[in-house]
Amino acid sequence: MLDDLHAEILDLWRLNYGIIILLPKLREANNIKQYRPICLLNVIYKIITKVLTLRLTRWAGKVISKKQTVCFLLIMNTCLLAKWIDRLERGDNTICGELLRKKYMGEKSIYQVHRRGGSQFWRGLVEAKQWFEWGRKMKIKSGAQTRFWKDVWIGETALKTQFPRLYQCCADPEISVEHALTSTGGQLTFRRTLGPREMEEWRLLLEQLSNVQLEEGRDELIWCFEKSGQYSTKSLYRFMANGGVADPLLSSIWKCRVPLKIQIFMWMTFRDSIHSKVQLKKRNWAGQEECKLCGREESTDHLLFQCPVACFLWVFIKESLGWPLYPSRCEDLCVFLRDVKGAKLLSLFVQERCGCCGKRGMTMSSTTRLCRTLQWWSTRWCRCSGNGARW
Ligand SMILES: [Zn+2]
Repeated sequence: MLDDLHAEILDLWRLNYGIIILLPKLREANNIKQYRPICLLNVIYKIITKVLTLRLTRWAGKVISKKQTVCFLLIMNTCLLAKWIDRLERGDNTICGELLRKKYMGEKSIYQVHRRGGSQFWRGLVEAKQWFEWGRKMKIKSGAQTRFWKDVWIGETALKTQFPRLYQCCADPEISVEHALTSTGGQLTFRRTLGPREMEEWRLLLEQLSNVQLEEGRDELIWCFEKSGQYSTKSLYRFMANGGVADPLLSSIWKCRVPLKIQIFMWMTFRDSIHSKVQLKKRNWAGQEECKLCGREESTDHLLFQCPVACFLWVFIKESLGWPLYPSRCEDLCVFLRDVKGAKLLSLFVQERCGCCGKRGMTMSSTTRLCRTLQWWSTRWCRCSGNGARW
């Protein structure tokens, strides 16, 4: 059968055939009422999909990228279902389109129908339509398939956003453009008399509507995410998977080859949200704001860059690695990280591979340099403080 499928000679039109079987309810059933009829549908189709699934499972790890997670599948599923919404909105004439229209929608748009229950496919479409709405704009013909307040059809946003006060007191939020505009706006009614601000909005609305002309025909859909106005799965996927505006600096932190806990600590530092005393004070902490070591106000900058102990550490690093200067504030470190060399700042300390053994850690040269400088610093410190015994 699978060979027939690949040779394209399998009788696919017979997929809709059902096999009805009568299961006896009693041991010696002889009356039709004593049988329970069951219908086996699409058995061939199920066998084929099962075989293909079993064959694919072995290769799935190689064929499917690691990025294609459950989240990817959910988004992709929504995008493919949105393709169906697009076809329905454009008045698709295929059998499936006709069937959905007869069963659920009539001549209305899917957005004018509020039926949530139904077949699994229909429920999928209802789920996907909230996403499809983001890129949907209507070009008015008869106005029957477009909602007056909620759809984008005049201007760049929906009228409910352009005229929020009028929308709040309108009698029918779901009214179609056709009903609202026939008999010269007489159908637009409100639940109460309009105040001065609402009258101002009403005047502006009438001004906008003065140019609208209705004509015969179904309203046309324009897909805003594509220049051509035609729906594409890719454009909706891009919209849905968009993670927002990314800060290049923060993303450079995540690219650093350092342990995750250090990345998280740096991220918190740049967002000024580590638990310095100034931050704790904002959360009604009862203690004192002063630094225990030097008595100055303990902000994030002070804690990591300006406190004498931190300064000592930074100068030590600067001297041992031959940097021209060292950071004294968070912003300095940001500038440093933006620099190409700076992006590898932490990798240099923590996770650089050793040239000799390939182990992760500091290379021999940077380790030697750090040790030598530490030695130099400690002897100098001993000489200055005159407390050599402890060092
Ligand atoms: Zn301090």
